[in-house]
Amino acid sequence: SGPPPVTRYNLNNVTITNDPVANRENVLVLTPMARFYQGYWDNLLKLSYPHELITLGFILPKTKEGNAATIELQKQIAKIQKHGLEKERFKSIIILRQDIDPPIPSQDESERHKMANQKARRAAMAKARNSLLFTTLGPDTSWVLWLDADIIETPPTLIQDLASHSKPLTVPNCFQRFYNDEKKAMDERPYDFNNWQDSPTAQELASKMGKDDILLEGYADMATYRALMAYMYEAGADIHTEVPLDGVGGTALLVKAEVHRDGAMFPAFPFYHLIETEGFAKMAKRLGWQATGLPNYKVYHYNE
Ligand code: GDP
Ligand code: MN
Repeated sequence: SGPPPVTRYNLNNVTITNDPVANRENVLVLTPMARFYQGYWDNLLKLSYPHELITLGFILPKTKEGNAATIELQKQIAKIQKHGLEKERFKSIIILRQDIDPPIPSQDESERHKMANQKARRAAMAKARNSLLFTTLGPDTSWVLWLDADIIETPPTLIQDLASHSKPLTVPNCFQRFYNDEKKAMDERPYDFNNWQDSPTAQELASKMGKDDILLEGYADMATYRALMAYMYEAGADIHTEVPLDGVGGTALLVKAEVHRDGAMFPAFPFYHLIETEGFAKMAKRLGWQATGLPNYKVYHYNE
C-alpha cells in the first residue's frame, strides 16, 4: 500500500489541432440550461464527433423551472448512457446546480432582453458559466464547446467544422426560424447580436462611461455602430469565410482549452465596459487570443 500514486498529465501531449477526430482530442460541451428543449438534446445526439471523446457539462438554476429541466435532462441522459448504443454514449456527464442567491427569476424573451435587466442578468450568467467551466475543465480537455440549451439545430459536423479553422475562439452565426406573416411562409432572421467588430463610436461611448457601466449591443438607445456578424451572412457564399471579432456571444462558441487555461473567463463585472461572453472575448484578446467569426456558418436558436 502507501500513498495513492500521483497522476501526471503532460499538457504538451494534449494536442489541439485542426483534425481533432484523427488526434483523439477530448471536447467538453458546456451548457447553461434554464429550460430543457428536446430539440437541443436531439441535435446534440446527432453530433458526429465521436461521443466517447465528448464530456457534457450542465449548470441549471435552482428555480422551479430549473428543477423541472434537471429532471427531464436526467431522464434523457439515462436513456442514452444506460440503454443507448455504445456509439451514442458520451464519455461522461456532469450536472451542476447553480449556487446563486437569489436566482434570477425566469424571464421570457422580451423581458430578458430589456436593457434595464441586462446587467444583472448577464452578470449572473457569467458566474454560472465560470462555475461550470472551473469545475469541469480537465487536464486532458482540448476543446470547449459552449452551446446554449436553446440551440436546436446545427450541422452534425459542428465540432469538426469549427475546429478545422484551428482558431482560439470560433463562432458560427446564430439565426432563428420564424413564421413570416407577410410572406405566409417560414423564414429566418439573425438572432445573436453579441458577435461584433468594434467601432470608433462604441469606443467613444465607453470612454465617457462610469467605471461600472457596460456597453450593450442591439439596443436602439445605445447606437454603437459596431459591425455585427449577424448581418454579414451572404447566401450561397463559402461557409468557411472568416471574419475577426472583438465581441462574441455564447450561443455556440468553440474555444481552445488553452485559452481558458490561460485564465480567460466570463467577467461578471464590467471589464473594459464589457461583461460575460463579450468580456470573455476581450479578456482572451488581452491574453493574445483573437476571436474568429464564421458569418456564413449557421446554427439556429429556438423561437419562443
Ligand atoms: P438569450 O438567448 O441571449 O436571450 O439568453 P438565454 O436566456 O437563452 O440564456 C442563455 C443560456 O443560459 C440558455 O442556454 C439558457 O437556458 C441558460 N440560462 C438562462 N438563465 C439561466 C440561469 O439563471 N442559470 C443557468 N444556469 N442557465 C441559465
Ligand atoms: Mn437563448
